[in-house]
Amino acid sequence: MHRWLLIPLLGLATLTVHAADWTTPAEAAQFRTTPSYADTLAYLQKLQKAAPGMIHLETFGTTPEGRPMTVVIASGGGTFDPAAARAAHKPVVLVQAGIHPGEIEGKDAGLMLLRDIAVTGKYPHLLDDLVLVYIPVFSVDGHENSSPYHRINQNGPASMGFRGQSQYLNLNRDYIKADAPEMRAWLKLWQAWLPDFLIDVHTTDGADYQYDLTWYTEDPHKLDPAVSAWQHDAIVNHAMPAYEQRGHLASSYLEFKDGRDPLKGLENFGSGPRFSTGYAALQNRPALLIETHMLKPYANRVRATYDIVELMLEQIGAHPAALLAATAKADADTIARAHAAKASVPLTFKLDPQPTKLELKGYAFTRSHSDISNSEWIRYDPSRPKTYTIDNWNWLLPDLSITPPAAYVVPAQWTVIIDRLDAHGIHYRRTTQPLTMHAEGYQLDEPRWADKPFEGHLMLRDFRLRALPREVRLPAGSVIVPMDQRAANVAINLLEPQAPDSLLRWGYLDAIFEAKEYGEPRVVEKLAREMLAKSPALKAEFQRKLHDDPAFAGDSRARLAFFYERSPWYAAQDVGAYPVLRLDAAQWRSLSAQDETVDGARH
Ligand SMILES: [Zn+2]
Repeated sequence: MHRWLLIPLLGLATLTVHAADWTTPAEAAQFRTTPSYADTLAYLQKLQKAAPGMIHLETFGTTPEGRPMTVVIASGGGTFDPAAARAAHKPVVLVQAGIHPGEIEGKDAGLMLLRDIAVTGKYPHLLDDLVLVYIPVFSVDGHENSSPYHRINQNGPASMGFRGQSQYLNLNRDYIKADAPEMRAWLKLWQAWLPDFLIDVHTTDGADYQYDLTWYTEDPHKLDPAVSAWQHDAIVNHAMPAYEQRGHLASSYLEFKDGRDPLKGLENFGSGPRFSTGYAALQNRPALLIETHMLKPYANRVRATYDIVELMLEQIGAHPAALLAATAKADADTIARAHAAKASVPLTFKLDPQPTKLELKGYAFTRSHSDISNSEWIRYDPSRPKTYTIDNWNWLLPDLSITPPAAYVVPAQWTVIIDRLDAHGIHYRRTTQPLTMHAEGYQLDEPRWADKPFEGHLMLRDFRLRALPREVRLPAGSVIVPMDQRAANVAINLLEPQAPDSLLRWGYLDAIFEAKEYGEPRVVEKLAREMLAKSPALKAEFQRKLHDDPAFAGDSRARLAFFYERSPWYAAQDVGAYPVLRLDAAQWRSLSAQDETVDGARH
């Protein structure tokens, strides 16, 4: 039975007894510990049983170790599916906890908040005008891999989950490359609900200071103006002031240029498509990253998370149409851009060289030379709060931009690319017959890879890029990706080689840089003599290189390769030919004339 049914009948004594029944596991432990996944689910199931009209549990995936991934759908009036949410004009808010499961405030705060919405009557109307999609633990396997030794920088709880999931992948680097089964499940959930707002809950590492919460949103240059304006109004103008009125202290994200000297100032941490907020930006959605401060007691950190999430829900519930209008406008703008004469899409960003000033509510600190590190050792004194005025290089400017094509073409055999388009729900059309077509391609040369793996990949650090026209034979089943779709920016960031998290950068297309055939030295000796006899210019180039480059001169293989790589025998291998092509509107129309299923006629 519900509390509000019991009170009038039985009086206050029942309230006390009954409220105790709803103590969450972390509250019962005075926040010294955080519950297991099984105990978390047991509490949520109890909530669902008590408030079936408001709380609904679903499984949205399975982890590599075989655990169910649970999501809570919570809404007044039982709006439990995406179509119902859209019909009711209710924005969808995705709150996710435990993407880094050692940073687990979002789970314990979520249990308390759902209880206070659904059963104790503290916020009975919070979800009347929105739908909350809540992931209590995103990295479930990482959460169950718990140890007192996982986060050396952090003050409790007693045992903490591990940053990597069971395949040692960091889910908050996996958004666009989507390697982890957990991310594949998340992307399906995202596409089903297409949330209007994302809150991603974390705990900091780094410096000590007074704030109990720091937060990050993507730079306006990475967002549609409508989304950026909504974020500023909802978060900066409303939620954060209300948060501080509850006795908290919040700051925008604090990424110090030099961790050993906070007075050198702050810079934007960069983000990007591999991160939650960076991915949401590509999807035209506002997103808030929150980081409770690692050294505050766990109870305070859970309260900080509870309050900011509650206040964001309050803000959105009070003005649902504003959020819906912002995300709809952003989607419409992206689609309209495909028909604009000259569009420019930034792929990379740099710090705005002009800093602003930030009043840092920090602590007094000392710096001393350490003979261990032979460097400066900074020690904070939390008993002496102190305010510093420091430079903040927080704003970004577009660096490298591209003009999007009317459509990209992915030849049918590049299944690794098509698989990622599918994972992200990118719309495309398949050709039904072999076609010969003209398109713009990229020639990539001088590749250089990282020398250490990152998230299981040797990333392609650097290459030279030339755009050039190509004539290509496309097999049936090739994929045409039109840019007049709401998630076009996701496709651009997967497919443009220079995007920081492109599939090329992550190393999925390394094979294009490998020559598969070679010339025997005795054969190339003959080829070189024929080429030199034919071309005085080549002869001069060879002589110059012998003179200018002693390493080359001393390497007999390189001397032969000089000729082989300039011969038609090498050119025929198309080494470095980027397989994804770019169609302009006329090229798309001419392709459509050959195969109507790819219909580019309206361009
Ligand atoms: Zn984190």
